[in-house]
Amino acid sequence: MAKPSPLPLLGTGDKGLRIHDLVKAPANTPWAKARQQSWDASEPATVYTTPEVLADGTPCTAVTVILRTKGCHWWWSSGCTFCGYFNDTRDDVTNEDLHAQWAAAKKKFNHFEEQQMVKVYTSGSLLEDREIPVAFQETVLRDCHDLGKELIVESRCEQLTEAKLAWATAINPSFTVAIGLEAYDDEVLRFHVNKGFSTASWDRAVTNLQAFNLRIKTYLMFKPPFMSEADALDHCVTWIEAVAERSDEISVNPMNIQRGTVIDRLHRHNEYRPPWLWSLVEMIQRVHDVIHPNGGMNGDEDQVSRLIVHPTAGGKIRGSHNCGSCDGEVVAAIERYAVSGSLLEFEGLACTCRTVWQTEVNLERQLPLPLGISKPRRGRVVDALRSP
Ligand code: SF4
Ligand SMILES: [Zn+2]
Repeated sequence: MAKPSPLPLLGTGDKGLRIHDLVKAPANTPWAKARQQSWDASEPATVYTTPEVLADGTPCTAVTVILRTKGCHWWWSSGCTFCGYFNDTRDDVTNEDLHAQWAAAKKKFNHFEEQQMVKVYTSGSLLEDREIPVAFQETVLRDCHDLGKELIVESRCEQLTEAKLAWATAINPSFTVAIGLEAYDDEVLRFHVNKGFSTASWDRAVTNLQAFNLRIKTYLMFKPPFMSEADALDHCVTWIEAVAERSDEISVNPMNIQRGTVIDRLHRHNEYRPPWLWSLVEMIQRVHDVIHPNGGMNGDEDQVSRLIVHPTAGGKIRGSHNCGSCDGEVVAAIERYAVSGSLLEFEGLACTCRTVWQTEVNLERQLPLPLGISKPRRGRVVDALRSP
């Protein structure tokens, strides 16, 4: 009779799951496939307007056009752990469809007559030829230039080569590129986000963008998976400090759980708590001097970068939240800060749950618990200690 093997120190001895399979599985489920085929390929996913600020600080109205596309090429081969964009894509969208979507968006807002800024989002990268036909890239760049609109597009790093930017700026010499960097830390990019590029790749992209005088917007992710609240807070402060000088704008996205993603699975298992709103307040307070080295007395003129924190689904269980009773007030203060840049927005905010949050963060800095001690994490303590 075979001798029972001793309990392995790490894992059960079974073959480990590949993160690739975990990420891809939900996109191939019948409900996801049916949902993707239900979209009308000639209509944009959504078009809406919001108040914004132009590069020179002037308040304006921006129109956001979210196009129905084939999605992101990184998703096709792997994908980021929190990205639910695949829910909104269709893999058979053509050049004609995209032009029809763009025409519909322009028609809806009368050729963007009242909007000075146009954000074109593609659930991937506009300047990636495998995702978006070159003819359509050209249409967006040219139209926005001809209409005199400030254009913002999203892109991963690898598309932002000298050759591509030389081509793009010959059509539209001035636009903003928003990059989902998520973390300025190679370990986090690789093991927590599964981003598929490194900080060196972002450095190169930024050098190229600067050479072509293009504006840079950097997205950072607050609290990627497999990280405690205290680590998320401390790391995000470091990342903001690292990218501030090289970003015209930094947008911190507190994690919100999108359907069918790795983070969704962790959340359903009570193994992940979206960030506390109190952490976001502390993060802003800690980086304020980096963003406004002269105290912010001269408004926008003195700021190194513009810091925006927008807690999507703030106060909800799938977005960053506190105890439930103070959430609305804290979310409102965080959003006001993006406009005013003043720490006074946080004066007088108080709730009993702040003590709970502070204790949690203090303990996490002292105990060896890689995944943190957030209350909803109700899994086995042994599993938590192993950081599976
Ligand atoms: S690069 Fe962006 S669009 Fe692509 S999988 Fe990652 S988050 Fe999603
Ligand atoms: Zn509270």
